[in-house]
Amino acid sequence: MSGAAASSLPEMLGRLKLTALRDRLDVLLDEAARRELNLPEALGLLCAAEVAHREERRIQMGMSIAKFPYVRTLEGFDFAAQSSLDPKQVRDLAACRWVANGDTLLVQGPPGVGKSHLAVALGREAVQQGYSVLFTSAMALITDLMKAQAEGRLEEKLTRYAKPKLLIIDEFGYLPLEPHAAHLFFALVSRRYERGSNLVTSNRSVSEWGIVLNDQVVATAILDRLLHHSHVLTIRGDSYRLREKRRSGLLKSNAAPAPAGASA
Ligand code: ADP
Ligand code: MG
Repeated sequence: MSGAAASSLPEMLGRLKLTALRDRLDVLLDEAARRELNLPEALGLLCAAEVAHREERRIQMGMSIAKFPYVRTLEGFDFAAQSSLDPKQVRDLAACRWVANGDTLLVQGPPGVGKSHLAVALGREAVQQGYSVLFTSAMALITDLMKAQAEGRLEEKLTRYAKPKLLIIDEFGYLPLEPHAAHLFFALVSRRYERGSNLVTSNRSVSEWGIVLNDQVVATAILDRLLHHSHVLTIRGDSYRLREKRRSGLLKSNAAPAPAGASA
C-alpha cells in the first residue's frame, strides 16, 4: 500500500462507517503483525473487531428500547429454590423459538415467585438473539391505550404496540380493568395476532380472566387468540422475597409480631 493510501486509511474506514475498526486500527494491525497473520487472517481479525462492536451496540440499543424496569437474568434465577419449574423447559424457552414462531408465553403464579424476573430474563435473551422487545406493565399499557383513544390516536398507538416482535405484559390481573379496557386489550391482541409474540405474567389463572377483564365474552375472544399457539409456565410456592426475609430472621415462619418488650 502506498504511503498516501495508508495515511488516508482511517478516513476511508470512517467513510465506510467502520469506526470501531478505525479507532482500534493501530492496535489491531500490531496484533496481526505480532501473530504473523497472513492477509485473509488479518482481514478476519479486523472484521471481527468491527462485527463484535456492532453486535455489542445492537444489544445495548435493543435493551434500552425494550424498557426493562431492571436487570434480571436466567443465570441469576435460583431454580433450586423453585421446585415447581422445570429448568429444562425454561432453558428451551430461552432459545426463543417461541418468539420466532410468534407464540404466546403465559407465566402464572402467586406474587413474589419470580414471574417478572423470568419475563425480564427471557426478554433479555430475545434481545440478545436479535428480536425487538418491549416490556410494559398491563396497567401502563391500558392507561396508554385509553389516553391515546381519548386523544384520537388509538390507531397510531396500536400500530406502535404491534411493532415489537415480543411484547411483554407484566402483572396482568393484579387490578380489575374497566369494561372499556377489555376492548382495548382485545384490539391490541388482535393486532398482534400471528405477527408478534406475547409474554404475559399474571397472578390469575386463565379461567379468571373474565373477572379481570370484567367481560367474559371479550376475555374468551382474547384467550382464543393468545392461547392458539402458547406455552405456559406455572410457578407455585412461597414468595421468594419473604422466604429470603424468613431465612435472614427478619420474619418468623408463622410471622406473629413479637409482644412489645419481649427479649430476643
Ligand atoms: P413476581 O413477579 O412473581 O411477583 P418477582 O419476579 O418480582 O416476582 O420476584 C420478586 C423478587 O425475588 C425479585 O427481586 C426476583 O429477582 C427475586 N426472585 C424470585 N424468585 C427467584 C428465584 N427463584 N431466584 C432468584 N431470585 C428470585
Ligand atoms: Mg411481578
